[in-house]
Amino acid sequence: MDSSDSRAVPRPTRRTLLAAPAVAVAAATVAPSLSATPAAAHPGPGLPIQNQNPDRELRDLLRQIDPHRIEATVRRLAAFGTRHTLSSQDDPVRGIGAVRDWIFDQLSAYASASGGRMTVEKQSFVQPVASRIPTPTVITNVVATLAGDGDPNRVYVLSGHYDSRCTDVMDFTSDAPGADDDASGVAVVLELARLFATRRTEATIVLAAVAGEEQGLYGSGYLAAQMKAAGLGVQGMFTNDIVGSSTDENGHRDPRTLRLFAEGVPTAETPAQASTRQAVGGENDSPARQLARFATAVAQNPATDMNLRVVYRRDRYLRGGDQISFLTQGFPAARFTEPAENFAHQHQDVRVVDGVQYGDLPEFCDFGYIARVAKVNAAVLWSLAQAPGTPQAATIVTTDLTNNTTLHWAASTAADLAGYEIVYRETTAPDWQFVLPAGTDTSIRIPLSKDNVFFGVRAVDTDGHRSPVAFPVPGV
Ligand SMILES: [Zn+2]
Repeated sequence: MDSSDSRAVPRPTRRTLLAAPAVAVAAATVAPSLSATPAAAHPGPGLPIQNQNPDRELRDLLRQIDPHRIEATVRRLAAFGTRHTLSSQDDPVRGIGAVRDWIFDQLSAYASASGGRMTVEKQSFVQPVASRIPTPTVITNVVATLAGDGDPNRVYVLSGHYDSRCTDVMDFTSDAPGADDDASGVAVVLELARLFATRRTEATIVLAAVAGEEQGLYGSGYLAAQMKAAGLGVQGMFTNDIVGSSTDENGHRDPRTLRLFAEGVPTAETPAQASTRQAVGGENDSPARQLARFATAVAQNPATDMNLRVVYRRDRYLRGGDQISFLTQGFPAARFTEPAENFAHQHQDVRVVDGVQYGDLPEFCDFGYIARVAKVNAAVLWSLAQAPGTPQAATIVTTDLTNNTTLHWAASTAADLAGYEIVYRETTAPDWQFVLPAGTDTSIRIPLSKDNVFFGVRAVDTDGHRSPVAFPVPGV
């Protein structure tokens, strides 16, 4: 469904909503079916939910994503020899200092076309001695910030890490081209910086090339902590880490799939939140899962030509990435990664053994694939930054025992707000199934039991952009 189509659906008043149970009961009576799923037998007053198609501006942006520029970026980053966090910071040709300055220059050139709205900084700090950091080491994130026009304190972050490694994580002199891990992610960040710099968004976008990832997520840890300390409203973060190839070690290609790792139980969950989760069954409704559902809804379409394979994990099995730094600070975050990693090309010394080439070389990257990954990121970031923010203070009223459900939420401050929508699904369904326009009030009574389905609330603007869903907590 196009976003403009969905707005054509009349928004029911509270009166019509309260009249809905009779309709639902009648439908169930007329058409009982043993084979129907519970959702199909009693869908309630909502309409089946549809993915959102990109608006005209987004389609224009997606068309300008350039695989040749992405290829040039990956090859240039690989040509610095090593980008190890402990490598030289002042050699102008080889090492992490040279690449830091090159990324800064690229982002600064893009920012010069932004009319002053995009600023670029080298965010440096001294990482004290720690695991994989043998001496105090300056780590520098290169960060471009595109200030939002309407709601600048609401922030969405996209990152890739520009440091690299070879077989020995402490070896900072051998070649470590890191084309897939993670020049590919940095190339996505740079391409989006180029294209977003000339466009206006309502919320603020941060495009970051971070360092220290291979040593222990140090750069992203600092970035996330600084954002938390500054009181920024980070409502979504995605890292692109290993997004360079669609071919696995057996040569099987899956060029239209991108994995999205999204945790269930929040990393930063408090004991009180855990208690609530256990009491209401919210383990599949973390902010990260809502972010993943949002990403699928806006980025899985013909314009990106990609499918998102959401994985219900914080990261790959026993592994990690920069999204964890943001999850640790309580920010919704998730990780994009190619469909299947090839471990002969990752974290390996560049060498040939028995005729097999090892090492993370640009020749193993698929630049058309990275361009499609960039389209997914652009669709997600654009849709987040143009939509209203996620509704705040969403609650389900629990003072009455009833088979109706009453929800409340705080009013959105979006200047172009059109209203709100309730979404709901069977408890066994992975994605939101039904949507119910809720008008401009900040509460609604729905003739469905909170015992049997999960509810969420989202905001809609006058252009049809939908916010991510807020999962309500018990309230009064
Ligand atoms: Zn990586």
